[in-house]
Amino acid sequence: MNAPQRPPNADPPHPSPPNQGEEAATADPGENQPAHEKGSEAVLAAAMLGDLKREMNRLQREIRLAIQVQLAKMSGRTLGSMEANRELARSIQEMLDAHGLRVRCTHCGHPAILRVSPRAGAAAGVFVFDHTIDGRRTFHGGRVLMPEIRLVAKPARKPRGEKKAG
Ligand SMILES: [Zn+2]
Repeated sequence: MNAPQRPPNADPPHPSPPNQGEEAATADPGENQPAHEKGSEAVLAAAMLGDLKREMNRLQREIRLAIQVQLAKMSGRTLGSMEANRELARSIQEMLDAHGLRVRCTHCGHPAILRVSPRAGAAAGVFVFDHTIDGRRTFHGGRVLMPEIRLVAKPARKPRGEKKAG
């Protein structure tokens, strides 16, 4: 910022003549009232938070797309062993969790956690989508190759109706 400096004794462009009743009537009467100040600050804070929220959403979207691009390279592959595939799924989940993300189940579209489960005939296990649907833990998928990864926001926690007190 290179604002031109004004000499300290510069006159304002339109000096108001003193002792004129009309001028005094147009002055803002609330200028020095604390309530007015407080209202302005609330408006400023709301605007600032709105800007911040938009900026965070933009960054969040960039992060999501960046992760998705990298994970897309893994789809259709297997690391060849149960241990390696599990480690891969665990690392992915850890990263997604840190950013409030989930993978989207390719079968039903629900947000899910990618896991590797043992299965007869699949030495390196199978990739499954672990999610809760209608209050029940459900697994979809089950292929030996890593599925296509689409990222979605982690759903907000829902209060459970049947939760016991204590
Ligand atoms: Zn599903």
